[in-house]
Amino acid sequence: MGNVRVTVWNECWHEHNTEIVPKIYPDGIHGAIAAALREEGGLEVRTATLRDPECGLSDAVLTATDVLVWWGHMRHHEVPDDKVERVVGRVWEGMGFVGLHSAHYSKPFQRLMGTQCGLKWRVDNKKEILWVVDPTHPIAAGINEKIELPQTEMYGEWFQIPAPDELVFIPWFEGGEVFRSGCCWKRGKGRVFYFRPGHETLPIYHHSDVRRVLRNAVRWAASR
Ligand code: ZN
Repeated sequence: MGNVRVTVWNECWHEHNTEIVPKIYPDGIHGAIAAALREEGGLEVRTATLRDPECGLSDAVLTATDVLVWWGHMRHHEVPDDKVERVVGRVWEGMGFVGLHSAHYSKPFQRLMGTQCGLKWRVDNKKEILWVVDPTHPIAAGINEKIELPQTEMYGEWFQIPAPDELVFIPWFEGGEVFRSGCCWKRGKGRVFYFRPGHETLPIYHHSDVRRVLRNAVRWAASR
């Protein structure tokens, strides 16, 4: 297998509409994720945003994408349905899809899950301990038994998803909640991974272990 072609898609709204996010992510959230993916060889990474022509999801982009990484929060509704169908169709054909954080409510993720994908949440910037529950899984490669995030947004159950085929991470939050945070599914010939950390006002995508998980997840989602 040659280089895995990855497109990191971001709605890129907070970067232009808040003061704090561009300070934490001067190259955008997509820029930080792309930089994490470029830290080791083997991944050919480009970025796309909702602001690009055809919302960054043209046929040319999707055809040249082996794994699509998705970050969205405030503008899910602006992604056109025909683009969503194209993304879902590509997954059925074998494209990997990695949904991050608030992408749980993105149209492609909801379509791939077939459920509402709601959850409980609280922005309290308290600690999260993300426990590895499958140390043999390739997405957990190189991670010790846990990842500690000193400040995070809480996501709690019930997470309205179909039971994952494989579960890689379960976090503990200071409020006592737990959450299925690293979930794998197969859809057609494609692989789907959901990874929870990544709230926009915290430097989550600068954390070395989180960046390692992103690389592992893309490689896992690309293989078939
Ligand atoms: Zn968030």
